[in-house]
Amino acid sequence: MSTKIALAGNPNCGKTTMFNSLTGTVQYVGNWPGVTVEKKEGKVKGKSDLIVTDLPGIYSLSPYTNEEVVSRDYLASGEPAAVIDIVDSTNIERNLYLTTQIMELGKPVVMALNMVDALKKSGDKIDAAKLSEKLGCPVIETVALHGKGVKEIIAAAQKAASEKTKPAVIRFSSDVEKAIGAVEEILPSEIEESTRRWMAIKVLERDSVILSKLKLDEESKIKAENETCALEKSHDDDIESIITNERYESINAILKGVLVKSGKTMTASDKIDRIVTNRILGIPIFLAVMWFVYWVAVSTVGTMGTDWANDVLFGEWIQGGAQTLLENAGANPVLIDCVVNGILGGLGAVLGFVPQMAVLFILLSILEDVGYMVRIAFVMDRVFRKFGLSGKSFIPLLISSGCGIPGIMASRTIENENDRRMTIMTTTWIPCGAKLPVIAMIAAIIATKFTNSDGSWVGPAMYGIGILSVLLASIILKKTKYFHGPAAPFIMELPQYHIPQLKTVLLHTWERLWSFIKKAGTILFLACLVMWFLSSYGWSVKTEESENETVAQQTAEKQVFGLVEDANESIMAKVGGVLRYAFIPLGFGNEEGGWQCAASVISGFSAKEGIVTTMGVLAGASDEDTKALAGAGDVSDVISGEEAGAEESEDGNAKNAVDAIALWFPTGLVAFCFLLFNLLDSPCLAAISTMANELRNRKWFWFAILFQNAFAYIVTLIVYQLGNLFTTGHFGIGTVFAIIFVLMFLYGLFRKNPYAEMDKKN
Ligand code: GDP
Ligand code: MG
Repeated sequence: MSTKIALAGNPNCGKTTMFNSLTGTVQYVGNWPGVTVEKKEGKVKGKSDLIVTDLPGIYSLSPYTNEEVVSRDYLASGEPAAVIDIVDSTNIERNLYLTTQIMELGKPVVMALNMVDALKKSGDKIDAAKLSEKLGCPVIETVALHGKGVKEIIAAAQKAASEKTKPAVIRFSSDVEKAIGAVEEILPSEIEESTRRWMAIKVLERDSVILSKLKLDEESKIKAENETCALEKSHDDDIESIITNERYESINAILKGVLVKSGKTMTASDKIDRIVTNRILGIPIFLAVMWFVYWVAVSTVGTMGTDWANDVLFGEWIQGGAQTLLENAGANPVLIDCVVNGILGGLGAVLGFVPQMAVLFILLSILEDVGYMVRIAFVMDRVFRKFGLSGKSFIPLLISSGCGIPGIMASRTIENENDRRMTIMTTTWIPCGAKLPVIAMIAAIIATKFTNSDGSWVGPAMYGIGILSVLLASIILKKTKYFHGPAAPFIMELPQYHIPQLKTVLLHTWERLWSFIKKAGTILFLACLVMWFLSSYGWSVKTEESENETVAQQTAEKQVFGLVEDANESIMAKVGGVLRYAFIPLGFGNEEGGWQCAASVISGFSAKEGIVTTMGVLAGASDEDTKALAGAGDVSDVISGEEAGAEESEDGNAKNAVDAIALWFPTGLVAFCFLLFNLLDSPCLAAISTMANELRNRKWFWFAILFQNAFAYIVTLIVYQLGNLFTTGHFGIGTVFAIIFVLMFLYGLFRKNPYAEMDKKN
């Protein structure tokens, strides 16, 4: 039988880092709390009978948040044979608060005094031997990040588990001890000796979960309640504060002679934070950093790679090569078209962005690993709080900048059900990895439409608009019946900055790129096939000469289903041609390019990269010469015709897919609005199904879908109509609607909160 060992500790103390180091796996290490929401198990490297569990980070074992419930249930269960309590040594006072509770559970405990590297830098000292003596459990100095002390800690845990060594009992003041003793007596006899003290404290604290599990009889319940009331009266405080104070007092006693502070007040980290998390400078610095990241990735370094990938790698080598190969093999022209223009054209359009994405992912991973991202949460917390929103809602947003799915799941850390729902609905407005190729494509198009812009502002603008939209929507929703409520308190500690680890950065980058490439091989591949079919087949009018002699010379016009010569006759053109009308008020429902835009928006629900692949396929389909030649079936003609026309098409400027796509957007404003709508509408199917899971309610789910798309539609309409008004002076019915919507927004934002009084009382 294998032995299970739990890793427990505060958020950001290095549990996941320790877990990865122990198991040799690569779970996501996040530099902010709430990344681990569910527990994860893994076998210890080299010791296959040992299993470690990474638990969500918590500050206490009270049952208020989901993480607390998950961690507590597991720790209190019979499963783990020992607990490794990971402690951030740079913040030991606070971390010991949880330690005192873990020790009460009566399980063998060993303490990992983690981040001693950072402790050394701060100049503080902790006497591990003395601490171990006081706590009655092994204390081992570790640097999880470098694997230091990791072997020792697991050996100690294994030993403690087999010997079943109990940690010392941390005593409180005598009157509280007496009350605990009295409650211990009332507990049912089947409760094990080792957990009685913990249970008794929880009963004293009126812990509803424990009380309902225990099923005490009425008499015992009254006795326990009397003990609690007596304490509350004599201390003139509520029971939870009493116990909290007791814990902090015992922590002070433990740390006496153990912790020696250097007296240095400001570390380098603190000095940087003074600027980076500054009230006024914090947000401008964030936007500047984001702009720099996008400028490097999308406009300079990454662009070179992408230009090469688009023009040379995909345009000439792969697409051209495949065409020649298939033709030489005598393949059917329809098949050639399907492979070259459908699959390779579509996938090439999106895979061409891999170099840009790689640069972007590297830079974002560095920012994350250094510890900058968690500062953003801290800065935004202040902004959110000003509007009665919890900063906790910002963590899912940060996570969503990688992928919306874990972002939506991270909303579980929000206790307030209304806030949680609101966060699930809005968190995918932050550009995720899949939206990056769309952003990069539109940025390139905008750069060609406005010659005086390099498009590097488009990316940061999308983050800005995403955050702003979440903020505005939340303010409006918070004043309604279904979403009002006080903001949950949010405690967050800023970990020390540290030099990013090459391994972590490369792993994160690779993880993201790999999931993208996997998607290209599966869902995007399918989407390309479907799009190629829908854009190549349709009903065209064929003139048939009748063979019947008696009705000689008669010709019949017939609608025939099959390959169409003109993409405008395809099924997709027909469907998109109807849908495009819905997008006319948003600017991208034009006669030219409108159906392609509409089709791309729809395919974006399969995966957001699907927008780019679909545009790639449709750009290939619009190449009428190829179609005509393919239809004629003369292979040699296709070869000569195609090769001559490959570099320069009719228009003379469409050298690759992106250039062809640019022709569908008459102005930069239209391109921007297309991007804006795709940023704010419902996310991809995978994220939508995660939303459904997390909302756990059909009514709310449909409300969320409706809300997201309506919000996207209205915001885009406002931007397009007002943008058009300012750039061309055009005023029409759309402008009137835009103004009405703006007024409605303003009303929603500034009206008095009818629930303000009610929420204050709670
Ligand atoms: P968790 O929330 O407890 O799972 O913490 P993580 O494992 O995600 O780590 C939080 C942050 O602390 C990450 O940026 C780690 O790289 C960093 N970290 C973990 N262990 C150490 C350590 O021993 N020393 C230093 N300096 N940083 C560490
Ligand atoms: Mg973790």
